[in-house]
Amino acid sequence: MAILVIAEHDNLNLKASTLNTVAAARAIGGEVDVLVAGLDCQDVARAAAAVEGVARVRVADAAIYAHGLAENLAALAVSLAAGYSHILAPATTFGKNFLPRVAALLDVAQISDVVAVEAADTFVHPIYAGNVMATVQSSDPVKVISVRTTAFDAPSGTGAAILEPVAAGGDSGVSEFVSEALIKLDRPELANARVIVSGGRALGSAEQFHAVLDPLADRLGAAIGATRAAVDAGYAPNDYQVGQTGKVVAPELYLALGISGAIQHVAGMKDSKVIVAINKDEDAPIFQVADYGIVGDLFTIVPELMAELGQA
Ligand SMILES: Cc1cc2nc3c(=O)[nH]c(=O)nc-3n(C[C@H](O)[C@H](O)[C@H](O)COP(=O)(O)OP(=O)(O)OC[C@H]3O[C@@H](n4cnc5c(N)ncnc54)[C@H](O)[C@@H]3O)c2cc1C
Repeated sequence: MAILVIAEHDNLNLKASTLNTVAAARAIGGEVDVLVAGLDCQDVARAAAAVEGVARVRVADAAIYAHGLAENLAALAVSLAAGYSHILAPATTFGKNFLPRVAALLDVAQISDVVAVEAADTFVHPIYAGNVMATVQSSDPVKVISVRTTAFDAPSGTGAAILEPVAAGGDSGVSEFVSEALIKLDRPELANARVIVSGGRALGSAEQFHAVLDPLADRLGAAIGATRAAVDAGYAPNDYQVGQTGKVVAPELYLALGISGAIQHVAGMKDSKVIVAINKDEDAPIFQVADYGIVGDLFTIVPELMAELGQA
């Protein structure tokens, strides 16, 4: 049994999500290979080779893989699939973009958002926005799996995998890279942050959202998240959204400010280690998942909290 993990990276750095995916592959058992497809991505390949438990890093270094176009990447993965019992990628935007194509081209069912491995053919994943955990057994010859990265701790040791070039395929020609708009954050990335301060519709405006959340996030070294209602209202950019249709996070501390706790939001943050909620409605559903709840007006409580933190 051999497993292929498809690396998420930006041609310079290996993303932490790849490490969590390697951990899931190791839980399945068998030899773990990593595919690094990119352009001038040798540093990424070397980083992948140093991950504990990786046997071989297969490197496809070509212009057609520079931007992770789904059609080219899926075709490459499919061309390598014959040697593998499992193909894994993180259930991030990267994985969600191309992995369903791999499954479709192989004519197998993708198993999405896996949070636990029961056996080499049996996996646990959430359905109904995380309200039900389904245990599924696959009889497909190749199991195509996206991994919920927050469910698997990255390997902590080091490795010394061999590097092996892979011949690039042809360009599918059906999509092309036009441009990208990257947001430079001074704060930790939402998906990997240890502390997240998240705001909801109650913040009332983009100005208030930032006036309340930015100083608190700065003080705590936190990333900022938001509900879909806050994003839809224009208080925060789209990539701040936490939840079923946003990012799934599991920080050490999640502060929910003026968030009602709709299931679609809770699906993205309920695995946080400690959840603190501030809401003026004592019956708000967020208090059902919160470890600590403060009933009150966030515009009063957050300044008080800041004052306390300031004395620390
Ligand atoms: C298919 C689908 C997918 C979805 N995906 C997502 C998703 O990924 N993420 C997501 O977040 N939502 C998602 N939603 C939307 C979700 O159902 C809720 O509408 C949304 O999460 C509500 O956001 P909110 O808590 O900010 O707003 P509200 O539900 O309006 O809650 C605001 C809360 O703030 C409290 N409040 C008001 N003023 C104050 C104050 N001054 N101080 C303290 N508390 C105050 C209120 O008591 C209330 O509880 C999805 C919905 C659908 C149908």
